[in-house]
Amino acid sequence: MQQENLSLMAFQKKFRTEKACQKHLFELRWPQGYRCPRCQHDQAYFHRQRHLYACKACGYQTSLTAGTIFHKTRTPLRKWFWMIFLMGRQKSGVSMLFLQRILEIRTYKTVWVMGHKIRKAMAERDADYQLAGLIEVDDTYIGGPKPGKRGRGAGGKSKVVVAVETPGDKPRFAAMRQVPKVGAAEIAGVVRECLEEEAIARTDGWRAYRIIASLPQRHEPVVTGSGKNAGRLFPWVHTLIANVKGNIRGVYHGVSDKHLPRYLGEFCYRFNRRFWEPQMFNRMVTACLNAQTVTFSELRQ
Ligand SMILES: [Zn+2]
Repeated sequence: MQQENLSLMAFQKKFRTEKACQKHLFELRWPQGYRCPRCQHDQAYFHRQRHLYACKACGYQTSLTAGTIFHKTRTPLRKWFWMIFLMGRQKSGVSMLFLQRILEIRTYKTVWVMGHKIRKAMAERDADYQLAGLIEVDDTYIGGPKPGKRGRGAGGKSKVVVAVETPGDKPRFAAMRQVPKVGAAEIAGVVRECLEEEAIARTDGWRAYRIIASLPQRHEPVVTGSGKNAGRLFPWVHTLIANVKGNIRGVYHGVSDKHLPRYLGEFCYRFNRRFWEPQMFNRMVTACLNAQTVTFSELRQ
């Protein structure tokens, strides 16, 4: 089911009605048929008006969307589906204003919250994976109100550590983490979280990275010299940094420090699945069904 290839035409045809969307959610949530979330029993009474399933064994009531990002949404599932489809397929990301307009979503706030819920589901999905083998690791500054000081120590910008698995001459998977500063403790935290213990971290040898020598991961510092040389020694990490910066500047017109981790999650999610593009929609809906939801008030805090 998750492997199904969906072209735009097939998508449009398949999800014309709310009922078709509900059926699809049911099949992704309960591929072997209904399962009670509490006792795993496989039979339920269905309450048609309230859209509730009541377990025939323990009486526990659940709905198709309970505990998912779609719970109690007032936006039709069809619009959610289109949004997920477009966010998954557009490599550079999609503007929320554009989605609001074409999907006829009443307020910007609604589409903005929907976008963050989907992004959070994408980020959570990747949080459990670790990079393996040879990894290029570097840090960068993203966002900030004005073009200011460049390089390490630039003020008013968010600090991000980027790691790219580069087994041969092509990158495979990537991870990005926002950090309060690029210090030894922060680098150690990112490396522990994102890299397998057997991985080799190739860095420019800047002092914060020396901490890696004390971790299980192997450190391969490379003296880069000039900036041009750094681009040659770390081609993929620099390409990814340029792409994510371009997306955030061009499509999202800048992102605040607070929301940046979810945008980084969205970017890496798409990058890590770029070879499975036709399956992206089902993979994302599955992620949305499994993610912890986030509310507007949590986003505003
Ligand atoms: Zn039950």
